[in-house]
This record gives sequence, C-alpha cells and structure tokens, in this order.
Amino acid sequence: MNPYTIFADIVAGRAPSSKVYEDDDVLAFMDIRPMTPGHLLVVPKVAARSLAELDPEVGGKLFQVGQRLAAALRTSEVGCDGVNFFLADGVTAGQEVFHVHLHVIPRTPGDGFGLRGRPTSPRREDLDYLAASIRGALGD
Ligand code: 5GP
Repeated sequence: MNPYTIFADIVAGRAPSSKVYEDDDVLAFMDIRPMTPGHLLVVPKVAARSLAELDPEVGGKLFQVGQRLAAALRTSEVGCDGVNFFLADGVTAGQEVFHVHLHVIPRTPGDGFGLRGRPTSPRREDLDYLAASIRGALGD
C-alpha cells in the first residue's frame, strides 16, 4: 500500500505548514481547514497509517504534546475556554489522511463543533458481555 501522504511531505519540509511544535518524534502544525480557529494537528515523524502501526511510545508522545498544546491554546490569542482531542482511525471513523494524527480543537461557546451520535442505554449484562469480549481481545 502506498505510504505517501501530504503529512509525510510536511514532516520532510517538502510541503508548507504553519508549525507550532517540533521535537525528534513529533510535529504539530495548524490544520489547513480548521474546525475552529487554532485547530492543530499533532503527527508522528515516522509515518504510521493507523494506530495498529503506531509505536505506542510515540502514541504516548502525541498525547503529551497534545496536552501541552491544549494549555498553550488556552493562554494564546486563540483564547479558547475548552479543547477537544479527536483521532480518526480508519475510513469508517472518518480518517482521510493515512498518517496518524491527533486533532487538537479549541472550543469556545457556540462555535458549532460537536460529535454527532445516538447514545443508547444498554442493559448491564450487555455492557458486561462486551467488556468480557474486549478484555479477552486485550490478551493480558
Ligand atoms: P482526518 O479526517 O484524516 O482525521 O483529518 C485530516 C485533516 O488534515 C483535516 O482536518 C484536513 O483539514 C487536514 N489537512 C488535509 N490536508 C492538509 C494539508 O495539506 N495541510 C494541513 N495543514 N492540513 C491538512
């Protein structure tokens, strides 16, 4: 499968980006089509198409950098008073760029951003059944 994505070019400096953070493992830059002003993307420098391919240590760093950025967004001129993290893993989840990325989305009252969904209220036995299945899949 073709590993190329625009984010690989951004990491390599072959494509432009508005960077906000960089270290040996991670790059963060402004989303070119922001959901809200200040919307950031945090990406691993070593391309991974999916969470399954991502080094868990680097995954941890994505979250750590996201935490720092969330704090910076609150005190920057973005001036948000809330932040959402979002990560789409797979087509069905809405992933469009197949280089893992954490969205860091600043929130202000009435900004119109939100997750659509249909919450349900399953019975405890149904929750327990799926919990057991997921515990089994963890393989611990
Ligand atoms: P996904 O749907 O895969 O979770 O999100 C992909 C994100 O990448 C979108 O929010 C989109 O706006 C952003 N994006 C796509 N192409 C570019 C680009 O060339 N530069 C930047 N900075 N963001 C991009």
